[in-house]
Amino acid sequence: MNVAYISLGSNIEPREQYMEDALKKLEAHKDITIVTKSTIYETAPVDYLEQDQFLNMVIEVETSLKNIELLHACQQIENELGRERTIDKGPRTMDLDILLFNCENREIEGLRIPHPRLHERAFILIPLFEIAPELALPTSGVLIEDLLHKISEKEKASVVKWEKA
Ligand code: ADP
Ligand code: MG
Repeated sequence: MNVAYISLGSNIEPREQYMEDALKKLEAHKDITIVTKSTIYETAPVDYLEQDQFLNMVIEVETSLKNIELLHACQQIENELGRERTIDKGPRTMDLDILLFNCENREIEGLRIPHPRLHERAFILIPLFEIAPELALPTSGVLIEDLLHKISEKEKASVVKWEKA
């Protein structure tokens, strides 16, 4: 069985519904089991700033799928949830990114593991640390906690536990 960490993100309403639907679809997949879920955070957009706030969370899954198969399953769920790719890094109903897959450190068919921007994103590191405080990156052994220490307080402050309105 493989262990993977996946990040979920949505910034098109109804955001909460898209998060719930993505979780349901992952759970309904016969080869994927959700082991742990972080809480949901509301986060400021990065890269492309002219867009609404995101809901983000990270989950740990067990899967018999290979890494590429898991990516395809995630992309299918994004498509089912109406994901359109118009603006790069722009608004999305659902973004499912594979953060880590076992202890792999590689790139195959365009899939990069660990996720290339994991190190610099508070909205990934904070929920990841919440569910896996002992976790380290493959090869380097750098702890998620160490990566978090390198993020500015300002950026960390832009990731807050989400409270339903
Ligand atoms: P974003 O970078 O905003 O997540 P997309 O979701 O549109 O953008 O993904 C762009 C491409 O990133 C996809 O075609 C996918 O193949 C590739 N990719 C590379 N590594 C990963 C990964 N670890 N998880 C998800 N997608 C990845
Ligand atoms: Mg993505």
